[in-house]
Amino acid sequence: MSRERLLFESLLQPGEDTVAKSGFRRVLDAMGIRADDPRLAESQRVLSAIDGDRIAPDEFVDVIGPNALLLDRALKKQLVIPDFEEFSRDVRRIFEATRGNAAGVVADYIPQLGRVDPDQFGVSICTIDGQRVAVGDTDRPFCVHSACKPVSYCLALEEHGEEVVHRHIGCEPSGQSFNELTLNREGRPHNPMINAGAIMSGALIRSRKPMADRFDHVMDAWRRACGGERPGFSNTMYLSERQTGDRNFALAYYMRENGVFPEGVDLVETLEFYFQCCSIEVTTEAMAVVAATLANGGVCPLTGERIFGAGTVQKCLSLMDSCGLYDFSGEWAFRIGLPAKSSVSGVIMTVVPNVLGVCTWSPRLDEHGNSVRGIDFGRELVRTFNFHNYDSIVGGLHGKKDPRVLREDVQRSLVVDLCWAASEGDLAGIQRLVLQDAQLDGADYDGRTALHLAAAEGRDEIVAYLLEQGVDPAPVDRWGGTPLDDARRRQHTRIAALLQAAGTRTASDAA
Ligand code: GLU
Repeated sequence: MSRERLLFESLLQPGEDTVAKSGFRRVLDAMGIRADDPRLAESQRVLSAIDGDRIAPDEFVDVIGPNALLLDRALKKQLVIPDFEEFSRDVRRIFEATRGNAAGVVADYIPQLGRVDPDQFGVSICTIDGQRVAVGDTDRPFCVHSACKPVSYCLALEEHGEEVVHRHIGCEPSGQSFNELTLNREGRPHNPMINAGAIMSGALIRSRKPMADRFDHVMDAWRRACGGERPGFSNTMYLSERQTGDRNFALAYYMRENGVFPEGVDLVETLEFYFQCCSIEVTTEAMAVVAATLANGGVCPLTGERIFGAGTVQKCLSLMDSCGLYDFSGEWAFRIGLPAKSSVSGVIMTVVPNVLGVCTWSPRLDEHGNSVRGIDFGRELVRTFNFHNYDSIVGGLHGKKDPRVLREDVQRSLVVDLCWAASEGDLAGIQRLVLQDAQLDGADYDGRTALHLAAAEGRDEIVAYLLEQGVDPAPVDRWGGTPLDDARRRQHTRIAALLQAAGTRTASDAA
């Protein structure tokens, strides 16, 4: 049977021979695939050309034809977050848990920033497979400010390569606030994630071209990284920034004094270019796709288009890791352990490499200039999911969830590993599996448990350990056998004695 036909059958309700359009939509919704997903444009077109609400088998082939692979993976729960409904519920819970925090103050050093409604809070997430969830104020435009820095750095890297870019910019956290009047020992900006560094990245982008072309080039990268959604531009923010940009002018003069700009750079143009980049407007929806593009190694998940090279993204994420949250960067790396970039507008873009991008936006800032609710959300995100960079070192879930795998699959594979370790007499292996939340009582398809296997293979130490841990001493497999049956059959008398002492009976004793 063809893939299309199999998919069609999997969507059929009992007693029906056509599929409801609404039912098909609901299934995709549950996977986090949106109706306006650019990858589904052709499918949507075919779907809306079908009269009525029912899809016949031959029509279904045409509907999913252009996207058979994506839909096949989605319906088989093979996208990067297979249970997206459960994941979305968790995201909503975290949002509700963090929205109550009204601490912090809105930045007002640029008049335009001080005028926003401070209560707004939006969270959008996009996975590397383009699954999306959005909660709260996710359609309000805000200026990217410092969140333009990773994109400008990527563009500079793509144009010149690491060698040249880092002749002008360092890669150390500054330990200072974003606009501190300071340079590193060589007179260069400490890194591309603070103002001086971003002014320098801008100076390296198409520097010989007219300003309009340079800005078009930056906007084009943003548009493509957003998956086609056109980012806006706030002229008022730009003017406001320019008017109040003394510190940025001071930084630029300081860099010029140190002779670190590339040759021929026009200082005022460079600053204006930087202010323009800060004044690009997005929503959390668009910004989450940019974050997902970084999580996906530079390929936009919604269009499949490569925006940045993987090596460029690797460098950018490394610096977001160490320098992305102003002088809270070390604390963020320690507690949240993910590359991120915050800005004075209250946005935090966080990347879970190879999984997803998150964008939170809420304008009230803490003393470091980071969004209070954004930081709370980040903390709660890694408390719920094993996303911290080094969760893998600890091993096991420790009460966290791994949304990349279906819970049933995890337990199934843990049981198989446990049975293997038990049959091999590998006590350390069993203890490691316990750390990963393996259930010692778990049984495989045949009802065989670690205790059955240890008893059958004569692993005294393992049997003693399992009994000590309080496992059921007489589980029955699908042939009606208990571990004591296994021990007796293979003449492991010590084990049989252990099991009997634990009050175990064989299936025949029981009869
Ligand atoms: N536009 C801001 C400035 O240069 C960006 C600051 C920020 O978000 O950290 O002052």
